Amino acid sequence: MNKLSIIVPCYNEEEVVSLFYRETCRAVTAIPDLDYEFIFIDDGSKDHTLDILRLLCYQDKNCHYISFSRNFGKEAAMYAGLEQSTGDYCVIMDADLQHPPTLLAPMYHAVSQEGYGCCAGKRIGREGDSALRSMLSKNFYKVIQKMTHMDMSDGAGDFRMMNRTMVDAILQMKEYNRYTKGIFSFVGFETKWLEFHNVQRAAGTSKWNLGSLFSYAFDGILSFSTAPLKLPGIFGSLLLLAAALLGGSGLVQQLFFHHSMGTLYYISTIVIFLSGLQMMMTFILGEYLSKDYLENKKRPLYIVKEQDSQPASSSVCDITPIRRNAM
Ligand code: UDP
Ligand code: MG
Repeated sequence: MNKLSIIVPCYNEEEVVSLFYRETCRAVTAIPDLDYEFIFIDDGSKDHTLDILRLLCYQDKNCHYISFSRNFGKEAAMYAGLEQSTGDYCVIMDADLQHPPTLLAPMYHAVSQEGYGCCAGKRIGREGDSALRSMLSKNFYKVIQKMTHMDMSDGAGDFRMMNRTMVDAILQMKEYNRYTKGIFSFVGFETKWLEFHNVQRAAGTSKWNLGSLFSYAFDGILSFSTAPLKLPGIFGSLLLLAAALLGGSGLVQQLFFHHSMGTLYYISTIVIFLSGLQMMMTFILGEYLSKDYLENKKRPLYIVKEQDSQPASSSVCDITPIRRNAM
């Protein structure tokens, strides 16, 4: 029988976590021939979330919890949950019921029967989010898609069910600055998208404010793109071009029209030239830095989706025909 690990990061979710457990339990037990485990990660909650989790785990042997010594953030909580999971499939869900448990059955069908490595929820609409947050998020995803050339669209969150191969690939990515939406896209695997309508959280409040959203967006760009390091190259070449044009036209004026442009003109040209040169040097430093940055992440060079069960060393082809038993 297959087993599903349900990974739930929780930060100050005392108002909603029991309801989440009941609703999700109902949905997962309705799926035939499926064993399950809940892995709750208490991300340093300051309310009674941990007490509730202790009680749930005492009452239900399918529940487990990990409690962090302080708030490490949802990214760390998801990693810890995946690391502790023992299921053939894993699903990551928010504790606030914004990820509908009713999608678990079609998700499980997609990964267990339809051959997908992953089945992800795609939120449509942003009811419940403020207009400012919706606008900023939409534009952020447009920018990050362009900068990283990876599939990170608005609405595609962390709610997804994955098979063990994909989970193991994610666990191989041990980088400290984690941006899991980018990691899902980086590891590949065929993904089926299931749309769902955004709903307000069942109880409690969102843990995000404008400042933390900006820093999350910035982390996303820095974790998956070295494009900002190329900016000095662009500005530097523009400045060098400007210096060349100014210097050239000054020289033409002097040589052909015997008209001197004045000391200030030449000093400005030299200053622009030196600034451009400095920018180009910064760009070169950035190029070394971006190589080092990628080396430091120690990301896997490739991720295998599937291979036959023969060990690689026994690759000599034995063409002896199978001898059938004499009748
Ligand atoms: N969460 C967490 N650590 C944090 C912030 C959030 O584990 O530092 C959990 C939170 O308890 C919830 C999920 O991540 O289960 C999503 O958080 P939230 O609902 O606040 O985000 P939103 O839905 O507003 O994007
Ligand atoms: Mg939420």
